[in-house]
Amino acid sequence: MRDSRYFIDLEQQFGAFNYKPLDVVLHRGQGIWVWDVEGHRYLDCLAAYSAVNQGHCHPKILKTLIDQAQTLCLTSRAFRNDQLGPFYQEVCALTRSHRVLPMNSGAEAVETVIKSVRKWGYEVKGIPRDRAEVIVCAGNFHGRTLAIVGFSTDPKSRAGFGPFAPGFTVIPFGDAAALERAITPHTVAFLVEPIQGEAGVIIPPRGYLQEVRRICTAHNVVLILDEIQTGLGRTGRLLAEEHEGIEADITLVGKALSGGFYPVSAVLSTSEVLGVLRPGEHGSTFGGNPLACAVARTALRVLVEEGMIENSEKMGEFFLAGLRAIRSPLIKEVRGRGLMIGLELQPEAGGARRFCQALKERGILCKDTHEHTIRFSPPLVIQRPDIEWALDRILPVFASAGP
Ligand SMILES: *Cc1c(COP(=O)(O)O)cnc(C)c1O
Repeated sequence: MRDSRYFIDLEQQFGAFNYKPLDVVLHRGQGIWVWDVEGHRYLDCLAAYSAVNQGHCHPKILKTLIDQAQTLCLTSRAFRNDQLGPFYQEVCALTRSHRVLPMNSGAEAVETVIKSVRKWGYEVKGIPRDRAEVIVCAGNFHGRTLAIVGFSTDPKSRAGFGPFAPGFTVIPFGDAAALERAITPHTVAFLVEPIQGEAGVIIPPRGYLQEVRRICTAHNVVLILDEIQTGLGRTGRLLAEEHEGIEADITLVGKALSGGFYPVSAVLSTSEVLGVLRPGEHGSTFGGNPLACAVARTALRVLVEEGMIENSEKMGEFFLAGLRAIRSPLIKEVRGRGLMIGLELQPEAGGARRFCQALKERGILCKDTHEHTIRFSPPLVIQRPDIEWALDRILPVFASAGP
């Protein structure tokens, strides 16, 4: 059997350098566990940035994938298929949406919604041509396409990639008054993550989303929640908007929509916005294909049927309490909702990456985000003994002077 070094060298020789992964070469996964090519077992505390909420290689989703792959994979939207309609119906029933537009990656869903709200702005709201504005938040992460990185505030995401598309206004996250001030007659939408994931699990003040909802309604501005990471059980609710009892006009989902088997994303609309698109104006060869729809249907079904959302809430509280109980001068704050947890280190702790390295040596895979924060977001099927096992290994990493 080839060892890790062999595979790492191949990546170094032939790949682009747009990632700097930990040097662990994974070969197999099951539930919350993954194994590397040397056979070491790890607890996956990233879950592919929340794409694997249902756990690795979930048997029911796997069966659907195989069955559907043996039946029909791709038709393009030039023809209809018998998985698309049922997928629409089920995702609408679950999320109380009225209309769906399926895509593949999360970034594509974001691009789709920006195109749609701009067109809605011109056709319905009556904004003069090419003047539509979308408001976004500092610290946002919505993907990697040109339009999206153009309104990022992360220098690494932007530098060297301009010129960028106009029409975006950036306001601070968690500040509803700033939203009200930023709205102009040309504002079509406010695009925001209910909890900022990539920024380091930043939870806005309580009541923020309710205020945002009120302001958007008052000004006829479309509220778009990017729930690509927070959605589908991650925060202990199906959608994070439920924590504040609000409903977005448009919700974006992706990642766990396929349980990690396949790229599937969707724009879910409770408003008239998607109605402005007409044949030929938008699309994707793979969007809405039968394999994607079948996989997504089962991924949603197991999430609900197997109680993963409730488990996320319970296990999240337990994990959060366990991490908060760690007494360490290195830790600045532990915050989270459900199984979306961030542990922020003191600036003098020397950065999160070496802690992730040390956790890896102890059998736990985590990812640092924005220098000083470690994210703990295991698959939602994790159980109490697994978390106790993890805490026993996490504690020594922070207990002393660090790794
Ligand atoms: C991951 C993510 C995206 C982008 O999804 P991709 O599938 O990587 O394009 C967009 N928004 C949020 C909040 C995300 O976490």
